[in-house]
Order: sequence, then structure tokens, then C-alpha cells
Amino acid sequence: MVGNVPVGGDAPITVQTMTNTLTTDVKATIAQIQAAADAGADIVRVSVPDEASSRALRLIVPEVSVPIVADIHFHYKRGIEAAEAGAACLRINPGNIGDETRVKEVIKAARDHNCSIRIGVNAGSLERHLLDKYGEPTPDAMVESGMDHIKILQDNDFHEFKISCKASDVFMAAAAYQKLAELTDAPIHLGITEAGGLMSGTVKSAIGMGSLLWAGIGDTIRVSLSADPVEEVKMGFEILKSLGLRHRGVNIISCPSCARQGFDVIRTVEALEKRLEHIKTPMSLSIIGCVVNGPGEALMTDVGFTGGGNGSGMVYLAGKQSHKLSNDAMIDHIVEQVEQRAAVLDAEAAQAETAAE
Ligand code: SF4
Repeated sequence: MVGNVPVGGDAPITVQTMTNTLTTDVKATIAQIQAAADAGADIVRVSVPDEASSRALRLIVPEVSVPIVADIHFHYKRGIEAAEAGAACLRINPGNIGDETRVKEVIKAARDHNCSIRIGVNAGSLERHLLDKYGEPTPDAMVESGMDHIKILQDNDFHEFKISCKASDVFMAAAAYQKLAELTDAPIHLGITEAGGLMSGTVKSAIGMGSLLWAGIGDTIRVSLSADPVEEVKMGFEILKSLGLRHRGVNIISCPSCARQGFDVIRTVEALEKRLEHIKTPMSLSIIGCVVNGPGEALMTDVGFTGGGNGSGMVYLAGKQSHKLSNDAMIDHIVEQVEQRAAVLDAEAAQAETAAE
């Protein structure tokens, strides 16, 4: 558990991000965490580099709606302070914080405050003795590091942990995660670290994490981008949505458009993506330029619009042809239809839940 969020086993694969505000700027950090939570983040990580940040964490945790992972490097005292400040999880490598007494103190603080631990192995910061042994960062070196940290926690009878083995190289990260999954049943946190900007980083993450998730490896993910944390969350969900592992919000099916289009598909989809950001209900919307593919796609979506002639097109609801609509009125009308359909789906889901109880 990370706070009230289960990670691992049959739990849904969770999406994480990390704040990039100064943690000591409590107001900005809370705002960024909430923005990420509103975009769907299940868990948010916050750096705790100094004592002032630990004090700030105490003010932040009660004000946000998602569990917080405190990111600790090396300094065991920050780990203890973060657990006391209400962090739901510590990202800390027990092998890097000094002698056994310190390790025991951190583990005790975690246990006393219901805090889990994420072991976070990173190819860029492997232990000296492993670099000496392997010559350079390799998947084997990363996995050995991870298993060493796991052993420390297990030797201290601490089992509420998950583990990551990140690298910026997709092949190295994927190989490390595959090996790790063979060696441990601990929940796995996936990430391609320092993946890059919004577009290239998303592609890299989608390929690396996507192939692992496809193989059944990974319980929680973070898409690391040089971009707003909200974008990381959105991209995380897009990856999970494409694999059918998690559904949230409107999945827009749209054609690339061509000379046959009956309306401006690209601009319409851009506008609809923005206008429909507030919808959390999993549902589908097809926006297709013409009758070549429109009716077929519309049969499989909750709401559909297919371009026709003379400045108008056809609206489809729940897979059935419904009514004609002029292109000019289309965006507002489609938003309305999606909102109505979301309300129906929400009511159905609530009913099914009551029936199950
Ligand atoms: S659905 Fe029609 S408009 Fe869209 S790409 Fe295909 S042929 Fe072109």
C-alpha cells in the first residue's frame, strides 16, 4: 500500500508523477500535486533534500488528496523526518544510507508511521563496488543492486516495499526489469528515467514500459519527462489506455484526415481534446472525416461524428445513427452529447456497484 492506494497483485496499475517545485514552497507544491491528482495521478512523489523540506512536507500532506512518496537520497534523517511528516512511502535505497543502525532507524520510522518503501535503483547512480565488478552500468549490475537492497529490508523483516530499476537507455531498463521480475515477487515500479522532452520522452517510455507492461511486468508507472507533471500523468494514462490496462476519460478515435474530409478533423480533435479534459468516465468518441470509415468506427463508440456533404455530418449515439448536425454547431453539441453519455454511464456504474453490494 502507498497510503490508501494498493500497488501490486491484482490492483490497477497506478500512474505516478513527481513535483518540480521547491518543496519548501508549500503553496506551489500543493497546487502542483493537486493539478496532477486532478489529471488522474494516483500517487505523487516529492523531493525531500533538506530539513526545511521535511518541515514543508508536514504542511503539504494534509492538504492533498493523493498519497505522497518522499524522495530521499543518502541522508537517513530525511527518511525518518519524512515518515514522521506523513509521507505514505519513502523512496530510499537502504544500502546507501550508512551503517546498520541508521538502516534500522529508518525502517523503524517507516513501520511506526505506516509508510512503505520504494527501492529506486538507477543506472546513473550505481554503487561503486558494482561499477568495479561490472565495469559499467549493466542490467545485471542494476538487478544485483536492487536485490541487495531488498535483502536488507527482508533481513529487517520489512516487506512493504516495491522496487524500480530505471535507466535512460530503453534496452538496459527493459533487460533489468525483465530479470528483476524473474527474481522477485515485489511490486515493480516502471520508469525510463530522464527520457527527454514531451514527444521523444513519451515515445521512449511507451516503447520501454509498453513492452514490459505487455509482458505483464509492472505495477505502477512514471513517465519521466522534461515537461509539466500533468503531462507525465496524461502520457502515463495514454500508455495504459493503449494497452487496455486502465481506462479514464474520453478515448478519441479520429482519422488522420485527407481530401475527402467533410470538416476540419485536425482542428476539431484539438478543440475537443481540450473541451473534454474534465470527463473522467471511461468512454469513446469517434471523430471521422467521411463515410469511408466513419459509420464503421461509430458503431463501436459511445458518441460518434462522421463528416458528410454540404457543411454537415451525422451524429451516432451508442453505436446507432442518430441525427444530422451542421459542422458549425458540432463542437458544442458533441461536448454536450459526451457529457450526457458520461452521466448515463456513471449512473449505470453506480447501479451495478449497488447491485454487487
Ligand atoms: S475517414 Fe475519410 S477523411 Fe478520414 S482519412 Fe479516411 S478517407 Fe480521409
